[in-house]
Amino acid sequence: MTSTLNSTAQASTGDAPPTLTHWIGGSARPGTSGRYGDVTDPATGAVTARVPFASTEEVEQAVAAATAAFPRWRDTSLTKRTQVLFRFRELLNARAPELAALITAEHGKVLSDAAGEVARGQEAVEFACGMPHLLKGGATENASTGVDVHSVRQPLGPVAVISPFNFPAMVPMWFFPIAIAAGNTVVLKPSEKVPSAALWVAELWREAGLPDGVFTVLNGDKVAVDGLLTHPDVKAVSFVGSTPIARYIYETGTAHGKRVQALGGAKNHMVVLPDADLDLAADQAVNAGFGSAGERCMAISALVAVGDIADSLVGKIADRARGLRTGDGRRGCDMGPLVTRAAQERVSGYITAGESEGATVVVDGRTGQFDADGEGFFVGPTLLDGVGTGMSVYSDEIFGPVLSVLRVDTYEQAVDLVNANPYGNGTAIFTNDGGAARRFQNEVEVGMIGVNVPVPVPMAYYSFGGWKNSLFGDTHAHGTEGVHFYTRGKVVTSRWLDPSHGGLDLGFPQNS
Ligand code: NAD
Repeated sequence: MTSTLNSTAQASTGDAPPTLTHWIGGSARPGTSGRYGDVTDPATGAVTARVPFASTEEVEQAVAAATAAFPRWRDTSLTKRTQVLFRFRELLNARAPELAALITAEHGKVLSDAAGEVARGQEAVEFACGMPHLLKGGATENASTGVDVHSVRQPLGPVAVISPFNFPAMVPMWFFPIAIAAGNTVVLKPSEKVPSAALWVAELWREAGLPDGVFTVLNGDKVAVDGLLTHPDVKAVSFVGSTPIARYIYETGTAHGKRVQALGGAKNHMVVLPDADLDLAADQAVNAGFGSAGERCMAISALVAVGDIADSLVGKIADRARGLRTGDGRRGCDMGPLVTRAAQERVSGYITAGESEGATVVVDGRTGQFDADGEGFFVGPTLLDGVGTGMSVYSDEIFGPVLSVLRVDTYEQAVDLVNANPYGNGTAIFTNDGGAARRFQNEVEVGMIGVNVPVPVPMAYYSFGGWKNSLFGDTHAHGTEGVHFYTRGKVVTSRWLDPSHGGLDLGFPQNS
């Protein structure tokens, strides 16, 4: 692979943007549906590519390629499978900056943040490199007289991964390295807003020596998703996206007999107790609220100030937010644009709604100086104070650089507020009181907790997942839960005959 997207972009004519492809059976395949979406550079507003939207026939082709590749890949030795994983890891490590640049060009996040995303995705690849150990079963000798028992975990078959726009590389990497290392084949349907990272990864897999058909990229919209969700040969679906779609994916996929893990949206609270280091809390609130322009499922969007610290904390956050430089992510800015014009308009609309519902706009990102050329999709860092639980800026997932401050009097009120929220992805407490932190992690109904850590994204060898409306299904992503999701257990009970065994006995087998 000498340059990005050599084989996955068709030549453009004149000034028209290039047209991307699918990746089926180990090579780039032009779209045939006649339906396309625009891919934009969010920092300039320019259309940079057209992405094909798959037809149902193309879903069939993608699943057929994954189905055909499965038996051989499943039977490829663990040693050979993990050698491909290690090569993929080395290539990814060497070329991470290329992938980060692609992410910034389509998502808009600043380059350092894109590089961080790639690094966190790579952790999951490294975890999957340990698959021989992770797939080890148990064995019991002489469980009954002369009878041995052992367990194995086997791959499922073709599995689908459907990913959101906000982590074009990391979120797919939560799933496909583990699925592939465990012996499955994968059809990835990336977000139509940011398709290029997936195509880049497909080329990397080819270079790493992955057999054709083991990794497929199917670009598209609801037609592609519904085709995968209902296809009888797709055995499992891993989805990440907004809560309404996650619920739909879970209900439809399970109704079609599939194993489904569907990670949804979030409203993450950061509780600051009166004894906290307020400068640390202010730094971290800004990092977690405005990093990636708030387009992270683990972003902090609600800050709960407990007791009489609120005025001081709001002042410190406002000073820091005003000092941030927003602009083109390739120019060393702190914060980039939102992903689309529609996202920019939606987030600005929420700020206006919050103001009309009674919140105080302490820092207003609707207008400002943005370091970029063209018509980028910018909203600057925004701080709202005096937010109430009945306001739409609190009840809805805004998914933008808007930090809302809620004021409560006691720790108990803070925990009640967090637990009453229908989402349960991540939360953080800032305090120097170990007893309070310990109580918080025990009482709060949220899947991932940070103690003086604002964005507590688990390492790849733990599992990632929220509670309540933030995850539908039983299994979290990556870690041992990921291995479990992509494998089925089998227990073998065996007796090698010797002359002392035999004879008729129609009773239920009992140990002896
Ligand atoms: P989205 O739900 O709009 O899209 C996610 C995927 O679903 C995309 O591939 C998209 O093409 C597809 N899709 C969209 N509408 C569909 C429909 N009607 N039927 C079938 N498929 C459909 O989400 P997004 O805007 O791309 O991503 C942002 C959302 O993802 C936020 O809500 C964020 O919190 C969430 N997210 C959650 C996590 C997590 O781990 N819980 C991680 C990242 C993002």
